Amino acid sequence: MRVITRAADGTRRTITGGSRGPTLAGMSPPWSAGVVRLRRVVNVVNLATPVGLVVAKAGRAELARGPHGLLLAKGFRPPLRAAAMTIGDVVLLRRDDDWLARHPRLLDHEARHAFQYACWLGPLGFFPAYLACAGWSLWRTGDPALRNAFERRADLVDGNYVRGLDDPRLHLVKRRLRNPVRRRTGAAGSSRRLR
Ligand SMILES: [Zn+2]
Repeated sequence: MRVITRAADGTRRTITGGSRGPTLAGMSPPWSAGVVRLRRVVNVVNLATPVGLVVAKAGRAELARGPHGLLLAKGFRPPLRAAAMTIGDVVLLRRDDDWLARHPRLLDHEARHAFQYACWLGPLGFFPAYLACAGWSLWRTGDPALRNAFERRADLVDGNYVRGLDDPRLHLVKRRLRNPVRRRTGAAGSSRRLR
């Protein structure tokens, strides 16, 4: 098991061995232009990006180009549980540019979701698989993200779900998985992202 994390100076380091961490290696930026172009084509063909554009338009968002070949749908009006939600290559955003500038790694996280859409045959494959993983995570931990394979592979830290590999919520989840209890009353904390 390898886990990649970032040091305070922004450099990445790899942790090998030990229990499973919140991040998985192999899907970290920068991605090559060819890989991003292929993902964008696949996400158009599998209808993920067209669905994202329709949802963005329905939510009265303004489109702008973002990093990693993403399309940022800014000012998305309907409420979202999280600060952002990705459909295909379209990132639905409720936060403003200042917030985004303070959380630049969020778009790394959302780009990984865009790759997941490409790998899971678009919305038809991604939505049910994601919901199943979220339900499993909720059942096992009381939180739909912390043991959700899609969120873990997109990086829980980059997605602002936890503050780092030492976040107490991760330790709580590990203890809970080792010692399951009949009733779980949100001991892992809120499922909402950190600010
Ligand atoms: Zn996510």
